[in-house]
Amino acid sequence: MSERPISTTDAAASHGAQLKDWRYSVDGEGIAWATFDREGESANSLGRRPIEELSAIIDRVEAEARAKTVRGLVIISGKERGFIVGADIREFEAFENERQVIDNLKPVNAMLDRIERLPVPVVAAIHGVCVGGGLELILACHYRIATRDDSTRIGFPEVKLGIFPGFNGTARSIKQVGPMAAMQNMLTGGMIRAGAAKAMGFIDQLVASPGELHWAARKAVLQNRRSTPAGAAKMLLTKWPVRSLLAKKMRDETAKKAREAHYPAPFRLIDLFETHGGNLPAMKAAETAAFAPLMVSDTSRNLRRVFRLTEMLKAQAPRGLKWKPTRAHIIGAGTMGADIAGVCAAAGMEVTLQDISPEQLDKGIKSQGKLFARKFKTKPLRDAAKSRLIADPQGRGIGRADIIIEAIVERLDIKQKLFADLETKIKPGAVLATNTSSLKLSDISQPMKDPGRLIGLHFFSPVPQMPLVEVVRGTVTREDEVKKGAAFVTSIDKFPLITKDVPGFLVNKVLTPYMFAAMERLEKGESKEKIDEAARAFGMPMGPIELADNVGLDVCAHVAKILGQSSEGSRLERLVASGRLGKKSGEGFYVWKDGKPVAAEAKFSKSDLEKLGRELVQPMVKEAQASLDQGVVESADLVDAGMIFGTGFAPFRGGPLHYQASLKEPATAPQRAAAE
Ligand code: NAD
Repeated sequence: MSERPISTTDAAASHGAQLKDWRYSVDGEGIAWATFDREGESANSLGRRPIEELSAIIDRVEAEARAKTVRGLVIISGKERGFIVGADIREFEAFENERQVIDNLKPVNAMLDRIERLPVPVVAAIHGVCVGGGLELILACHYRIATRDDSTRIGFPEVKLGIFPGFNGTARSIKQVGPMAAMQNMLTGGMIRAGAAKAMGFIDQLVASPGELHWAARKAVLQNRRSTPAGAAKMLLTKWPVRSLLAKKMRDETAKKAREAHYPAPFRLIDLFETHGGNLPAMKAAETAAFAPLMVSDTSRNLRRVFRLTEMLKAQAPRGLKWKPTRAHIIGAGTMGADIAGVCAAAGMEVTLQDISPEQLDKGIKSQGKLFARKFKTKPLRDAAKSRLIADPQGRGIGRADIIIEAIVERLDIKQKLFADLETKIKPGAVLATNTSSLKLSDISQPMKDPGRLIGLHFFSPVPQMPLVEVVRGTVTREDEVKKGAAFVTSIDKFPLITKDVPGFLVNKVLTPYMFAAMERLEKGESKEKIDEAARAFGMPMGPIELADNVGLDVCAHVAKILGQSSEGSRLERLVASGRLGKKSGEGFYVWKDGKPVAAEAKFSKSDLEKLGRELVQPMVKEAQASLDQGVVESADLVDAGMIFGTGFAPFRGGPLHYQASLKEPATAPQRAAAE
């Protein structure tokens, strides 16, 4: 195939700019290729400049199509991995009011309309992640081809940022796949693999590898292939009154997962569908009007902040480190050790698991079947993960492992003996880590010849679900070991948070005063139902009393002791003494039935709950500030990140310190604009 490249300067001539983020050429068959390769960035995001450049390319294709010198356009990525990760959320911060949002959306949506109206076929050729604005762009194309690769995923993650699609993806997705699949994807924000995306109708054709994409796209242009939108049966659901019934069902389902007051975006999307879902051009216009207030809301600002915090946490691991953990040895196959082993095996590591109890070892390994079943869709992948997790009662894997994690009983003498012995058996450069929750690293490492190599890796329970791992730096721990620990945490797809070796590290240190203050209120006669509902109304995933029952009241009493919090003579102490340990024993503060607390029916006033919610979190805010002052982690943002990802602290409030600061701040710009 001969190529007749056209100067990129030429393509952007109408805007008088050189193309920096796109490459444009027309080949010998008259097929125009627009290759997205954002300058200086590892991933393609749709920021202002790439959109302007794409618009210039579309000007050119329009002219060439009229002149019959171009017979089709292919939009493809120039990155080795990844198509388009969405709009550039860094630019969202510049929007101060709804008008600015609308003014910015208009030209983008006009350009997408022009792509849709091009008289020549427009084919999107997708390999890797194609989400958010990227998915909206390909929906404006006439035909979509994707690789079957595991890295190829499509989705609408906007709701996770407190918004919904704003590049007319609401109406276009409904038109393409029907309201059920479109709304479900927009409301949940999940990522879909290529096969499922094809089954739903988002993708028209699959190819086995990136190498086949060019050829398939060329063929699609030459054969003038066009996607078939959703059929009449699916679109029947957009007709009144079916649409209204569907909207009601969606509202009920969404309300089970999120409160409208905290997360309005999915509810506004359902309103949009209910009002305009039967008239897609009207829906496009109404989308912009409904999108703008969400974009400048505090909820969206804080959720975008949470996104930035995840990037900050990932950056705790050094880039370009030569050390790559491929073999892990875990000692202790109890609650924590078995799950840590499972998570490592699921992440592709070869894992040996050791325990002094053969029954526990067997049980620990078998229990990972559930995780593998959830994580891997095919039997060969599940079997491969199972075969990577090996029972090792003798500890034969110790000498070969890149990282050894201890998760045995919480006893100093036993841990000391274990590490002094391990030190003589491991290979040079291997990382030695303890999952202790209450012992000091410097005490555990005291009998070691090289105490500087011991780090803490504090996982949270349940390990597969909890995204954070505290990487603990003891007073004598060497920095390179801490960095390796953080790199290990990112390699198992979790967020590392480097903390000082203080009692409770960061998360339990900050969480405990909050839980104990709540228990004190209970002791003084406040109802547990009211306390828990107030915390949930504030945005916590669970109230503090229910949380104590979940954690286990014996564990709570133990943590209290470590943190110097007295539980003497308290209801907590009495419950523990009588064997009522919470969920695990069937009774604690609550009686538990079928894994759920039995709560008394009660109604509380909204203002009462709001007041109580604010009061409940104050001990947490205070301790978060104290931890920052004591340098437990490096910054206020990291304190907030730790509490959001370690405990689920209301993400839409941006973390305890950010929340406290926002109480003191004058009205935000959008609030001011609304008031004017
Ligand atoms: P667990 O009692 O469920 O499991 C401990 C396992 O270690 C048992 O299977 C036991 O047979 C085994 N074991 C004991 N001594 C051993 C030895 N010398 N060699 C090999 N195996 C041995 O305990 P767990 O809840 O999994 O806690 C393990 C560690 O993790 C503790 O240090 C604990 O403080 C810490 N931790 C626990 C949690 C939690 O929520 N459970 C959270 C964070 C950290």
